[in-house]
Amino acid sequence: MTGQTSTVLDELGFRYEPDSLYQQVISDVLDTGQQIDLPHQLQLILAQPKNEIMVHYPVQMDDGHYRLFKGYRVQHNNILGPYKGGIRFHPDVSLDHVKALAVLMTMKCALARLPLGGAKGGVQVDSRAVSYDELRRMTRRFTSALGDNIGPNHDIPAPDVGTNAQVMAWIADTYINLSDARSRFTGQAVVTGKPVSFNGSHGREQATGQGLVYIVTELLPELGIEVDGCSFSVIGYGNVGSWAARLFAQHGAKLRAVMDHTGAIHHDAELDTVALAEHVEKTGGVAGFVNSESISVEQFYRLELDLMIPAALEQMITDKEAAWVGAKVLAEGANAPTTPEGDRLLREKGVTILPAILCNAGGVSVSYMEWRQNRDAVQWEPNRVQEELRFYMNAAAQRVKLAAHKYNTDLRTAAYAAALEHVGQVYALRGIFP
Ligand code: NAD
Repeated sequence: MTGQTSTVLDELGFRYEPDSLYQQVISDVLDTGQQIDLPHQLQLILAQPKNEIMVHYPVQMDDGHYRLFKGYRVQHNNILGPYKGGIRFHPDVSLDHVKALAVLMTMKCALARLPLGGAKGGVQVDSRAVSYDELRRMTRRFTSALGDNIGPNHDIPAPDVGTNAQVMAWIADTYINLSDARSRFTGQAVVTGKPVSFNGSHGREQATGQGLVYIVTELLPELGIEVDGCSFSVIGYGNVGSWAARLFAQHGAKLRAVMDHTGAIHHDAELDTVALAEHVEKTGGVAGFVNSESISVEQFYRLELDLMIPAALEQMITDKEAAWVGAKVLAEGANAPTTPEGDRLLREKGVTILPAILCNAGGVSVSYMEWRQNRDAVQWEPNRVQEELRFYMNAAAQRVKLAAHKYNTDLRTAAYAAALEHVGQVYALRGIFP
């Protein structure tokens, strides 16, 4: 918390906590607000989420004992439309992280000009360490604990780390069963990222990776990097990382290294992105993939490549990792993968950072399309989804470039500026109630 930002956070009684992801993210956002002269009252409003919901609920495990789970839903801002944001199942889920991710959703929806607000949720659980039945009971009970805090016109969750289309199907089914008869039909729009056969959208599963590929294929040539033959690495080979890799490889890019929670692997020429996805599906991680050598974390970061795509968790690239980074460009698939110190060091080294709210906006863009399809009780052709996704991603990229030029700033600040300009305009039009 430095400069002008501290006055807003001080005014709200924040105590400075350098490791708080929320303080790191909101400080960046409010600093940008200062640069673009966002009115002080709007900075105050944005400095805290509107609602922070915390629930504790018991679930019977397979062996008969009861376990108490802790879950969160944070609704940051809904000036642009209903709250929207993923639900994460991970042992490290905390209120601080969920708040930070909710702010980023407000910024992402605003940058993409979606009529949606920002939210995020999560449950402290290792989804790999519970059985299928336990996961289902845990998901259903979380949904009922949230009750009317979510809804198709109010707050619409989606998949994130540790959750998938099946989890979304259980949330939708639970919500529909708890709804009264008259609103039952529209209940399926309570979540996006559902399976295609249960009114999910074509293209949603790969949407975040696809959106990132649209961004890098648009921006890399402007940075002097040819897409065909571009060497790249990925951190995390889950939904975002594996789809980004598979789709980018279709443009002739070469995946040289991947790191996940099981280790780091490397190949001098090229890793087979599709076979690697199958290996991860079968074994749970990248370790032990054929035709690859195992390397250390430091060796992974030091590889001299055109592009690195962090697509795992937050705060992974601190000043320590940033000092190692050998890539020329970082395209943030994950939310907030770079700490402020890491970010500063990378920029000093001349690494270009394509920020998360631009690179990973594809997921929420197709989620928005799924929500519209559900409300109209239709399913669009895959090509229509792709065309709209390309439109949203390219328009967002143009806004970031224009803002970078207008404010003479880096791309992260530019992305926040383009988002905040829109939020500011809508507040000015709507006014603050009453
Ligand atoms: P996922 O659960 O499918 O994959 C997470 C990946 O992170 C896994 O490959 C896992 O091995 C890896 N990982 C976990 N701990 C790690 C560690 N310590 N070191 C290295 N790798 C580690 O999750 P996802 O949906 O792909 O989400 C990844 C990121 O993208 C998150 O920041 C999420 O918020 C963001 N995101 C996801 C979506 C989406 O549509 N799924 C949309 C926007 C942003």
